[in-house]
Amino acid sequence: MDHKIGVYIDTGYGIGEALDVEALCKLAKKEFKVAVCRAEPYWCDPEKLAIIRNDISTESLTAVVIAGPSRRVLEDKFTFEGAITERVNLREHVVWCQPPNHEDTQMLAEDYVRMGIIKASNYDDRAPFKEETVKSILVIGGGMTGMSAALGAAKAGYQVYLVEKEAELGGWARKFPKIFSGQPPYDQLAKPEIEGKIKEIKSHNRIKLFTSSRIYRIAGAPGMFEAIVRPDGPWIDDVNKRQNDWKREQAAKAARFAGDKDAGKGEEEEVGAWGVGEAEPLDFEHELLKVGAVVLAAGWRPDDPAQFESFGYGKYPDVITSVEMEELAAKGKITRPSNGAAVNSAAFIDCAEESVKNPFLYKSYVPSLVALKQARYLRESNPDGKAYLFYENMRTPGQYEKYYEGMQNDPGVFLSMGTVTGVSNTGSQLTVEVKDTLLGDQLKVKVDLVVLGTGMIPVTKDMAIVNLKYRQGPFLPENPYGFNDSHFICFPYETQRTGIYTAGCVRQPMDFKNAEIDGLGAALKAIQCAELVSEGKAVHPRAGDLSYPELFITRCTQCKRCTDECPFGMYDEKPDGTPLPNPTRCRRCGICMGSCPERIISFRDHSVAMIGNMIKGIHVPDEYEEKPRMVVFICENDAYPAVDMAGIKGHQYSPFVRFVPLRCLGNINLVWIADALSKGIDGVMLIGCVHGDDYQCHFVKGSELAQVRMSKISETLQRLVLEPERIEVHQLGIHEYDKLPKLINEFAEKISGFDPNPYKGF
Ligand code: SF4
Ligand code: SF4
Repeated sequence: MDHKIGVYIDTGYGIGEALDVEALCKLAKKEFKVAVCRAEPYWCDPEKLAIIRNDISTESLTAVVIAGPSRRVLEDKFTFEGAITERVNLREHVVWCQPPNHEDTQMLAEDYVRMGIIKASNYDDRAPFKEETVKSILVIGGGMTGMSAALGAAKAGYQVYLVEKEAELGGWARKFPKIFSGQPPYDQLAKPEIEGKIKEIKSHNRIKLFTSSRIYRIAGAPGMFEAIVRPDGPWIDDVNKRQNDWKREQAAKAARFAGDKDAGKGEEEEVGAWGVGEAEPLDFEHELLKVGAVVLAAGWRPDDPAQFESFGYGKYPDVITSVEMEELAAKGKITRPSNGAAVNSAAFIDCAEESVKNPFLYKSYVPSLVALKQARYLRESNPDGKAYLFYENMRTPGQYEKYYEGMQNDPGVFLSMGTVTGVSNTGSQLTVEVKDTLLGDQLKVKVDLVVLGTGMIPVTKDMAIVNLKYRQGPFLPENPYGFNDSHFICFPYETQRTGIYTAGCVRQPMDFKNAEIDGLGAALKAIQCAELVSEGKAVHPRAGDLSYPELFITRCTQCKRCTDECPFGMYDEKPDGTPLPNPTRCRRCGICMGSCPERIISFRDHSVAMIGNMIKGIHVPDEYEEKPRMVVFICENDAYPAVDMAGIKGHQYSPFVRFVPLRCLGNINLVWIADALSKGIDGVMLIGCVHGDDYQCHFVKGSELAQVRMSKISETLQRLVLEPERIEVHQLGIHEYDKLPKLINEFAEKISGFDPNPYKGF
């Protein structure tokens, strides 16, 4: 679409004093023939905004370019009816980080104005994706978390479907006699409050409850999911087997791809792409639900106690797990399983034998709290009883510290750090051996009962729960430990399947009070999702974005890169291998745009051509001016705010860099780099989010994918006969703005050590 553009340069914030604003206006008019260019301080002022609105109407503007503060601020002010807005950052990225009234500062500002106008001119006029959607919420799991989510969503006015596999609601909370009260002074236990919740759910007119039922299948996309609920039965074993076979096959494929040629050979049956082709007939009792979003609150199962055989589990009846201890306590007086006699002493072990692999894998603060709670069970059951707690780390976050203090002051409770090395049967009692305690090298304690702290495994790890009919498979993608969170630092509840939010112990181990709150949090996310998709908007982290990827499908070669690389499973697949988009699953990260070799995926405001044209718009001085040019692609999630912060802090760095913001570094397309280098740009840097298990890219793997794609750039550089060192890839956290000037300056220095790019002037 041809746009009629108005440019509005802000002379406030020191911009007017540091730049030749008149020259910027001249450039806009002369080079781009913009319809209007005005320079005034503070365009966010209501009177100034009225001028822009008037221009839109009288001059029939379709695009407005605001050159002033960062696009990260004042977004609501610079939104106009009937015209798109593009922002040029003259404040944080130019005048706050460069010397005023300097030729290089002016050239930097001119390039950013050029790039902003080019970007606006390349905007496509596409309507948002809108289809008929529903806003009802499906909650899977009727334990504390699920009940809380269901009630929260229903009270907020949404129709809720609650599916529980057991005959009764309540989950573990039904089985545990006491939980932490969560009330001041935080040193007491209380009965789980579930009866009231169960009653409320059963009588709520917006909650439809399915007990003894499971999810047979979820197909579709946010706002238009189709969930099939089926009474529980042996069918689930079949589904489980099929899904676990598929999961193993995928793992073996990945291992083979990584170089292990024999991985999975002979064991796996080829099951192919999941969810492609016709659905099987539903010739069984079921209910089909149309839902907008899903809360997955399926909970946890205890870790396999067989790993504690060396502690006598399975051999001595008086060695039990903490879950079995809850069952014992629920019966009333605590007695020894071996002979029914009262327990006078018990050891609570929240530490592992050295030989146990990954002893903390499924441990958390919860087993510490459980050991403290169960010591109280014993003390209440037998006031003369002695409780010994051995742990490697006592974790009592927040107000639970108060409970811990209370137990420390109980004379019948002995707490010690240490490693348990063995449990043996010595006549009528058990002997627990502990080393490296605070009191000495080796300790032997005789007790009536040994309670082993149990790790909490998310049930989704090996159970078919959501049963997705997605091309990418039936499971939610997991982190290496089986939890379904997609970004545990920034976006709790989010999974890699848009519209499905995890809550409670499928997300991370947590106690009942936190699970209750978690259920509400996930319900809110599900509601946000149902509402946003009904308006054609993206969900987190680009919440409200109305763009979505469009494919020029006639040029598709069915290479499946987009289908494979989309972290959120947006594309299903037609039998011929052509991608089948489900736009409401899309998070608008643009990774597929970067992955498509045919360059046929684009957004209305973000495309390969648009970014390519912006790069081509950069003015490259000839080699005799000794002003090198570097393009730095920055991810808008961490790197862009870090660059803003560097400006706010007044950090100065090379004026020869030109930042090009991307939705995610995974957008990177090699053609941009080839375009930049063949235009005479001397160096290209990419700055993306830090990736890895403990600090993930906002779009899961975009930053890593960019690194992989860059490893393939050597061919382009060879063709252009340029040094490979002209390209660098970096990771930068949002808080690492102080590192930015050094990073940029070192790169600039390295580039100035090379001869000027010989393609300058072409
Ligand atoms: S933009 Fe991102 S989420 Fe959307 S389809 Fe492409 S890769 Fe998937
Ligand atoms: S990456 Fe491009 S060419 Fe390949 S399947 Fe997807 S749309 Fe088609």
